[in-house]
Amino acid sequence: MPAPLAPVLAVIGGGQLARMMAQPAIALGLPLRLLAEAEGVSAAQVIVDQQVGDHRDLDTLRSVTQGCSVVTFDHEHVPTEHLHALAEGGLAVRPGPEALVHAQDKAVMRRRLDELGVPSPRHAVVESVADAAAFGFPCVLKTTRGGYDGKGVWVVRDAAGAREAFEAASAAGVQVLAEELVDFRRELSALVARSPSGQAAAYPVVASTQVDGVCSEVVAPAPDLDPELAGQAQRIALTIAGALDVTGILAVELFETSDGRVLVNELAMRPHNTGHWTQDGAVTSQFENHLRAVMDLPLGSPAPRARWTVMVNVLGGPHDAGRLYDGLPHVMARDPHLRVHLYGKDWRPGRKVGHVNAYGDDLEDCLERARHAAAWLRGDLGDESE
Ligand code: ADP
Repeated sequence: MPAPLAPVLAVIGGGQLARMMAQPAIALGLPLRLLAEAEGVSAAQVIVDQQVGDHRDLDTLRSVTQGCSVVTFDHEHVPTEHLHALAEGGLAVRPGPEALVHAQDKAVMRRRLDELGVPSPRHAVVESVADAAAFGFPCVLKTTRGGYDGKGVWVVRDAAGAREAFEAASAAGVQVLAEELVDFRRELSALVARSPSGQAAAYPVVASTQVDGVCSEVVAPAPDLDPELAGQAQRIALTIAGALDVTGILAVELFETSDGRVLVNELAMRPHNTGHWTQDGAVTSQFENHLRAVMDLPLGSPAPRARWTVMVNVLGGPHDAGRLYDGLPHVMARDPHLRVHLYGKDWRPGRKVGHVNAYGDDLEDCLERARHAAAWLRGDLGDESE
């Protein structure tokens, strides 16, 4: 291979987020080097400069980042002490370990948000079932580390339910955080990109729907959201990004309560499922702005390109292998404006294997088109639905 013409960006983790970073990296002429967890995973199919190895092993991390100027992440699971070691070796770790720990550990995140005066659900770290009972049922118990897509989250109504959460936490060697069970109207997400120079760009606040703890649908912008509340959500995201010195994309998941407040649920410091709509619905996608931010390039506009954009995830269903590739002729012919994104992942029930974006002036029409396409690719609809 010829010598790279631009600084090399290392990406740790071979999932769909790293895969989707590759698209703007091609356009920007930015060489990527991937650490993939196994051969042939989603991003390893598209990033040629790659190593296979374990992101929990410091020597592997040192080897994959050799000659790179910056390292960024597809996920938040690299041990904090390894990130410090890489930073001490002179590598720009973006987001840095001091920031990333707030996306890794929910107890650390809650403490810091309290200090910043950011509105959160009532919460406490609890050591025992008795502690949880004293906090008050019903509540939500969460493992402080290692949870994702609703794993590590329990809605608990009594001591028996709490016991299950404590057993799982002690098996994983992590603590338990109790939170009030928020009576929310819907879930919102505020995404911002922030660069090391301190430039920031805020995307419109979106509404997301989760099914069984997994994001299923996103509407951008959140319909009928009070502009005051939207502004507040964006200010919260910008405040957190600045105070924690986040570089790259920060996603702030929020609850909109029935009485008209926003409370922070959790943070992610990487491109996020609630930002996939930006690939087709915003001037600059979250993936491009993540790359621009971590390379400290000026950020692109986060402005929407259309009045509405709807993203629907394609999750593996009960059918053998859905209809991912075989379904394309139908969804493409039915809707030439539809945008399809597939991740090259093996089909497993409940697994995110792709998403679709539909944009336009009419929200109901966008919802129908995106839902139809996702259901078709999943194999849920028969020919009679034509
Ligand atoms: P994960 O790390 O798995 O994404 P979250 O903390 O985002 O976990 O919780 C997953 C889902 O559980 C949320 O999207 C929300 O629907 C629900 N949930 C989490 N915390 C609360 C809470 N305090 N009150 C009500 N529902 C909650």
